[in-house]
Amino acid sequence: MHIKTFKGGYDNNFTYLIIDGKECCVLDPAIPSKNIFSFVEKEGLTITFVLFMHSHFDHIVELEQYKEKGIPIYGHESTKIEVDRKVKDNDILTVGETELNIMHTPGHRYDCVCVLVENNVFTSDTLFVGGCGRVDFEGSDPDAMFETLQKLKQLPDETIIYPGHDYGSTPRSTISKEKKQNFFFKIGKAEFLRRRL
Ligand SMILES: [Zn+2]
Repeated sequence: MHIKTFKGGYDNNFTYLIIDGKECCVLDPAIPSKNIFSFVEKEGLTITFVLFMHSHFDHIVELEQYKEKGIPIYGHESTKIEVDRKVKDNDILTVGETELNIMHTPGHRYDCVCVLVENNVFTSDTLFVGGCGRVDFEGSDPDAMFETLQKLKQLPDETIIYPGHDYGSTPRSTISKEKKQNFFFKIGKAEFLRRRL
């Protein structure tokens, strides 16, 4: 398994490809799909599915281009977007021999998911390097976000974090580093709610 990172889109968004053999999947169709398609063609890969990790516009902006090619679209079961497969907490998806474990991580938006692949976690707008997603949008839930952050903190320290935007001092981090440097990972519930409301 390897991971290919693309950056661009609306606001330093990341789109990730999980590649195993000649199969791959797309996490967050945020960056221009023509860049993805030319990479996939050059490498002789097949896109098994596209999973959007929540339904904010910048993370689904390229969805139609994948649909037009007949590529199945996956999203959380709570989403209002039309999908070919609804995923839920603890579901396991496969790309080649690689397993993708779905975590439902509401807070930033009700249909947020994170994806755990080996020792990598893809967090979209749930967790950033040195921050977390906003919880003041329609569809946000600060209480749920606090619980989601506690759940992510329980991942092994060496787990590598791949966020949905390049907002931090580095594009990636680890659970261990975030436990030390991420304010929202360190504070208790009362302070989290006070800061984020
Ligand atoms: Zn978002």
